[in-house]
Amino acid sequence: MRKILIINLKLFLICLIIFTGCQKKENNESRVESLIKQMTLEEKIGQMTQITINYMLEGSKVYEANLPYKLDLDSLQKTIVDQKVGSILGGAKAPFTLKQWQTFNTQIQDYANKTRLKIPVIYGVDAIHGGTFAIGSTIFPQQIGLAATWNPDLVKELAGIAAYECRATGVPWNFSPVLDIGRNPLWSRFFETFGEDVYLTKTMGRAVIEGYQGDDPSDPYHVAACMKHFVGYSMPISGKDRTQSWIDERMLREYFLPSFQEAIKANALTLMVNSGEINGIPVHANKYLLTNVLRKELGFEGLVVTDFRDIILLHKSHHVAANYKEAVKIAVNAGIDMSMVPMDFEFQKYLLELVNEGKVPLSRIDESVKRILMVKYKLGLFDDPVPDFTKYSKYGSEEFAKMSLKAAQESITLLKNTNNTLPFKKKQKILLCGPTSDEMNFLNGPWTYTWQGNEEEHYPVEKHTIKEAMQAIGGKNVEWIKGIGLTKSIDINTTLKMAKNVEAIVVCIGEQHAVEEKGNINNYMLADVQYELVKELAKLNKPIVLVVNSGRPQIISQVESLCDAITICYLPGNEGGDALSQILYGQVNPSGKLPFTWHKYPATISLYDHKYSDHNIEGKPAPFQPLFEFGHGLSYTTFKYSNLNVSTTGSSISDTLDVTISVENIGDLEGKEVVRVYISDLYASITPSVKRLRAFRKINIKAGQSKIVNFEIPLTELTFVDANNQWILEPGEFTIQVDKLHRTFMLQ
Ligand code: BGC
Repeated sequence: MRKILIINLKLFLICLIIFTGCQKKENNESRVESLIKQMTLEEKIGQMTQITINYMLEGSKVYEANLPYKLDLDSLQKTIVDQKVGSILGGAKAPFTLKQWQTFNTQIQDYANKTRLKIPVIYGVDAIHGGTFAIGSTIFPQQIGLAATWNPDLVKELAGIAAYECRATGVPWNFSPVLDIGRNPLWSRFFETFGEDVYLTKTMGRAVIEGYQGDDPSDPYHVAACMKHFVGYSMPISGKDRTQSWIDERMLREYFLPSFQEAIKANALTLMVNSGEINGIPVHANKYLLTNVLRKELGFEGLVVTDFRDIILLHKSHHVAANYKEAVKIAVNAGIDMSMVPMDFEFQKYLLELVNEGKVPLSRIDESVKRILMVKYKLGLFDDPVPDFTKYSKYGSEEFAKMSLKAAQESITLLKNTNNTLPFKKKQKILLCGPTSDEMNFLNGPWTYTWQGNEEEHYPVEKHTIKEAMQAIGGKNVEWIKGIGLTKSIDINTTLKMAKNVEAIVVCIGEQHAVEEKGNINNYMLADVQYELVKELAKLNKPIVLVVNSGRPQIISQVESLCDAITICYLPGNEGGDALSQILYGQVNPSGKLPFTWHKYPATISLYDHKYSDHNIEGKPAPFQPLFEFGHGLSYTTFKYSNLNVSTTGSSISDTLDVTISVENIGDLEGKEVVRVYISDLYASITPSVKRLRAFRKINIKAGQSKIVNFEIPLTELTFVDANNQWILEPGEFTIQVDKLHRTFMLQ
């Protein structure tokens, strides 16, 4: 009886939440409709315009504002009141203090309050791994590192911290997560992705969105997520940012749309468009993708913002519009709601003319304005445009830093560890060297304090570089010399001399992280001098531990066999130095797993879910030769898998595949393991992948203990896009693989 009462109570509460949600939506909608009726065309177009904060800072030139930063009240008046601009974005050349952020956002909303209809401004930033442009914020691993944790619960908590700290600055909109699939390691934004796999990306993307938006994004601790960059941005043929991709419809649907679809199901409020072009059509001009697919098929009702300057670029870069005005017409008619202009008011002028000339229907404008205002309502901006800034005592707190540390610890991936080279003992004499061993920017990368994140002076002195963190544990037993820069030798001879007196050598290698066009590269090899340093050190016959500070699988095959242990840090954030050093000294048992395939050769970019014909043709040697496989990652303990059981509830898409497996920790240390379920479709009407990740779970197991892990995998996970571009589930034989165990099952 008690049980029934509890169930009924639960049902009642769920209904109440749904009912209140629906009512809130209706209220918001009717408030928006009535507001739109009162708006002039200029006011509507103002809402569709986003301008950079740099335009409003005091100083001689945009991006060269005077320090300390102050808002120029004339520019503010012009932008918000005269031009009626409804949205501001970004940070400046140097990060703002928390106080500055709060002051600026208060001033901006004060000016919005001077406008006729007092519509609040929505401010958006790229707080993509914590508070990017804010001094004192919590900075955690970049997305590629978050993916390597394989821990969506942890990732959701971090996103909650980012949301909290965004609101603490007065910003309610985060241009994150990146849902582009990282299938081309040359791309300068690879580190911003969750790696190469669709399932991992959609799982992590959902976690981030839930963390940002919470149950109700209008509360003072949550923000609107912005899924980006819709769609296909990550696969430029040349690897260069914002260049052409050719992605056929089936591939687009099978690999690039699912992460957005999942994010829409998770109620992501906003979306940013891909700046590149697919199959000859810039996405900002692609009505099929922006309206038919996004709105009608995927059912997205939120706000679509362009990327930076992307409307003018339809003219200047893509050449599909003969002038700016035509570009505005194409983009707005294709379906964009807001233009990240972001440095002039031309967009507004042209859009006004186009509507008056009948070239952009007023209904299209109203539709966009409705979406924008709905987001403002959903964020509670009409009630509280500026939050109560006294409510954010946890901003940049120790508590938040600990979560960031945990994420870094769970992300750093141990790829090789022969003869138990690691962990080190505190007493071991170690030489630490290499170009990435003593600078914070190598642990963080772009979108940290500034756009490129490479100005060391902005990093907090109390955070530890790898050198500082290792010396904090190993003390005087850790000697340090940089030895080489990223591209040239500084003092290899002294490095070799110092190496003669130690028991083990740690070499930190990597690249200068950079993003967007500044991150374009011609190949992803390291500079020769980095290989040379390892080769020279190897001649001393001492154990070498290679630490890779990179957000992508750089080619290390030339030196891999010379190293006894290898770890990758990705871009682990401000706590990354400590996390790495705790792993090297065995204070933390590593549990990160690669979210990408680590290629052996630069010209063989074949991924884990390649096709059978890539793998071996009738027994001939396999061209797929990764250095380390997707999902690879070692622990200091050993896990033994047994009793893999598989059954299906039926063979239709509403059925599930039920999997159980037992995992035992047979080592001496407690450890975390990621149980990964791969499924292979053996024969299908479209060539199947050799395997696809269909489920995973990270678990913690004490030494000597075992756990049974269950998965209920919806059979929709086994569908694929057929020759007619429809998702289908085909009967036949499948194989399931968990660790080294395999089972087959049939779908009728
Ligand atoms: C990037 C976006 C970013 C935007 C705003 C663009 O250049 O491509 O990812 O959100 O700038 O900063």
